[in-house]
Amino acid sequence: GATVLALGLTACGGEGAGGGGDTSADKPADLTIGVAMPTQTSERWIADGNSVKQKLEAKGYKVDLQYAGDDIPTQSQQVDQMITQGADVLIIAAIDGTALSGQLQAAADAKIPVIAYDRLIRESPNVDFYVSFDNYKVGVAQATALLVGLGLQNKDGSKGTAKGPFNIELFAGSLDDNNAHFFFDGAMDTLKPFIDDKSLRVKSGQTSIEQVAILRWQQETAQKRMEDLLTSSYNDGTRVQGVLSPYDGLSRGIITALQNAGYGGSGAKMPVVTGQDAEIASVKLINDGVQHSTIFKDTRLLAEQAVLAAEAFLQEKEPQANDTKTYDNGVKVVPSNLLPVQTVYKDDIKPVLVDSGYWTADEVASGQ
Ligand code: BGC
Repeated sequence: GATVLALGLTACGGEGAGGGGDTSADKPADLTIGVAMPTQTSERWIADGNSVKQKLEAKGYKVDLQYAGDDIPTQSQQVDQMITQGADVLIIAAIDGTALSGQLQAAADAKIPVIAYDRLIRESPNVDFYVSFDNYKVGVAQATALLVGLGLQNKDGSKGTAKGPFNIELFAGSLDDNNAHFFFDGAMDTLKPFIDDKSLRVKSGQTSIEQVAILRWQQETAQKRMEDLLTSSYNDGTRVQGVLSPYDGLSRGIITALQNAGYGGSGAKMPVVTGQDAEIASVKLINDGVQHSTIFKDTRLLAEQAVLAAEAFLQEKEPQANDTKTYDNGVKVVPSNLLPVQTVYKDDIKPVLVDSGYWTADEVASGQ
């Protein structure tokens, strides 16, 4: 079939300049992997891009790494260009998970395999593989960290000594990012029993993902929403005691709003604020006792999975999935490889982040 034909063609010369499809006999130096990343405003995507590039280049492949500044047309154009320039595999972390169907069709027509990186690409049959973390568990871990911070639960999962009721507020990520829904679902399933028995109270009443989502995961938007919540729901002297935040950038916006309103000063305690990504600025805040926790997702391991998947496709094999039922993109269930995540409280910074070489002790030292 196709493989025999491919080998035949390659043996005749030609080929080599990429263009997807019949790549099994090409040398790595003749193959280009297009890597599309969303934005450089967050450290994690810079680390992701660098790791993927380094690991592919170490194996001899050419890499075309592009960042789109969180602008959807820019990302579409970058992916279009990768296809016309003859990429052999695409690795894509989408900005808007539903905006790339046209590009993915063009990739499929050119027989270029597509790997969705961390964020599932939706509404397209042309997503060949998905590498990510267990995103539902991220949400569970964030909500659990909130419960632990409030004393409603212990780290070992047993019941805590605190009773509440505690006032909390909820935040979610960008609605066009499939992950935002998984994070929020995991968190809400975990918080629901506590909301039901009234040990937690969302004072604003804003509990649906549509009400609490922050477009494009913007820090300033989160700060503004927290300011508005403080004005609308906490102007009667009651205090907010916990905030579910799904991403460190949002957490810092939320913390700024709280600090501007006097929290963390002599009067009111800083609420328990969660996070995600172990960004340096947030790890410092955790060291300082300002942010409560974050979720560490080792982007080095994710990059490794993306590289393994790309290599498998280049060798005309199927990458190894460890999950084949969770990630339905609206058209098909995409075979996935999901990595575990880790909650980081202050005590975990050294063993988890520093000892593993993710950050140096200096980078995350407190008080700067
Ligand atoms: C990622 C998170 C990240 C968020 C904002 C999500 O898709 O999974 O790690 O915090 O995007 O960049």
